[in-house]
Order: sequence, then C-alpha cells, then structure tokens
Amino acid sequence: MKDHLVKATAEGVRVYAAVTTGLVNEGIRRHACYPVAAAALGRTMTGALLMAANLKNKECLTVKFNGDGPLGTVAADASPEGFVRGYVMHPQVELPLNAQGKLAVGDGIGHGLLSVTRFTGLKEPVTGSSEIVTGEIAEDITEYLYVSEQTPSSVGLGVLVGKELKALAAGGFFIQPLPDADDAVLDRLEKNLAQVRPVSAMVADGLDARGIIAELLRGFSIRYLTETELAFRCQCSKARIEEVLMSLGEKDLDALVQDGKAEVGCQFCGEKYQFDAAELIALRDAARTMRRVRAES
Ligand code: ZN
Repeated sequence: MKDHLVKATAEGVRVYAAVTTGLVNEGIRRHACYPVAAAALGRTMTGALLMAANLKNKECLTVKFNGDGPLGTVAADASPEGFVRGYVMHPQVELPLNAQGKLAVGDGIGHGLLSVTRFTGLKEPVTGSSEIVTGEIAEDITEYLYVSEQTPSSVGLGVLVGKELKALAAGGFFIQPLPDADDAVLDRLEKNLAQVRPVSAMVADGLDARGIIAELLRGFSIRYLTETELAFRCQCSKARIEEVLMSLGEKDLDALVQDGKAEVGCQFCGEKYQFDAAELIALRDAARTMRRVRAES
C-alpha cells in the first residue's frame, strides 16, 4: 500500500487519516534510528503531515520538539502536497520499555517546548508553542492545537517498530469538531474514540486511510473528500549546501581548503554531499569576492 492521506467529514466533524509506513521507514533508514527514535520520528512526521493537510498550496510547516530527553530535538517539515522530511538529533539512543511495556518515546523526548512554525510564503513565518505534556507526540500536538490555536481536536499517531529496525505499520488521524457540531455528536465521537484500538494496529491489519476513518467514525455518515499521496522528500541540494558553506567565516573556509576535501550532510535527510579541493577553493574565492563587494558598497 502506498502512503496516503484521506480527508473526510461527517456530522459536525472533520477527520484526516494517513498511512505512513513507507515514508517512516525511509526516515528510519536515512537516520539509522534505533526503535525509540524510530517511533518518535515516525509519529512526528505523521503528525506534521496531518497538520499540514490544513494548509494552502505552497505553504508548509515545521513541528519541532525541543525536549531535554536523550533524543534531543525531533523535528519534521511537511507540506499539504504530501511531502515530509524529519530528523532526530540523537537517533541511536537506547531506553528500556516504559511502564506499559511500550517504547519509551516520552522519556526520550523529555520536558520542554513543542513549537509549530507555519511558512505562508507571503508574510513572516508564524510560530506558536506549548509545553510538552507527555512527550508521546500525539498528546502534545493535541495540547498545542488547544493552547496555541484554541482548537479542540483529537490526534492519534502510531508506529509499530519490528525487529531489524523497521516500521511494520505507521499512521495517524486528526479529528476536529466543526463549530456547528452539536453535543450529541461530540458524545458519540468521544465514546467511539474511547473504544478505538491504536492506529498502528489498524494499519498493521491492512486498513487504508478510509478504513481507519470508518473505524473511528463508526455509526457516522462519512463523506470522503480528497486523497493525497505521501512521501519522504527533502529540498536539499548541492547548491543549497554551497550557500551554507559560503556563509561560513573566512577562517573556516580556509580550514576546509587546507583539508583538501569536505563532506557535508543534510541534517533533515542524511544525504551526504562531497566537495573536492577545486570546489572548495572556488567557494572560498567566491565568498571573499562577495565580502569585498559588500564592504565597498
Ligand atoms: Zn536533505
């Protein structure tokens, strides 16, 4: 099954569901994640895609967990076109299972701030933040939406990590009551959600996003809307890495030229870019010229 996200509405609620097993595995592979990091990254990327589904075309957002746990920062960028990229600062942390016998994502994330930045392409990016509640990602995003955007919602995210450091199933959902939802509908929704099994179990059973929505909203009359294909994709390129190198100081660039070669990795996707001596000298000289032009103008 290809990764995908489906939007739907039912009496007074809107719901998005996503299957993300493939792109989560891509993230795990690129960053060589151990299980706790795999689950944290997978949930964060899936959550970012669900939140980005609300954006307009060409907008995007960054979800960033700045916790004090051993995983360090966990972040993901996602767009409504269905592209996501993400990283965990320390992907090879090993932690014992938590009291419920599950991967200890909350302990890995720790306490701190969850921030969400929206890039609209027109104005300055807008950042909101909230305290990390449990570090289990879904609860934190729910809290963020409530505190920072005054939007009550229900978010579920799940990654089933198998042996061999692979996600066997990953997915998530996002449910939001519309302003005109009546109390009886909300009661029914609450009862459904209290009984529902983890979303990773639904995906592991072979449900697609429509199937997840049907299970979440059992008894509702569901209207399915759009379906979007999802994929891990980074916007990095050698040209962008060159810009970063050019912005280094003269000393650092000189040191790279002395080394005779450099390898620069993209933080978001792990892609490695190689620079040989001639390229480094050209970059240093270009940076020098730019500085001179700036100094003279
Ligand atoms: Zn990249």
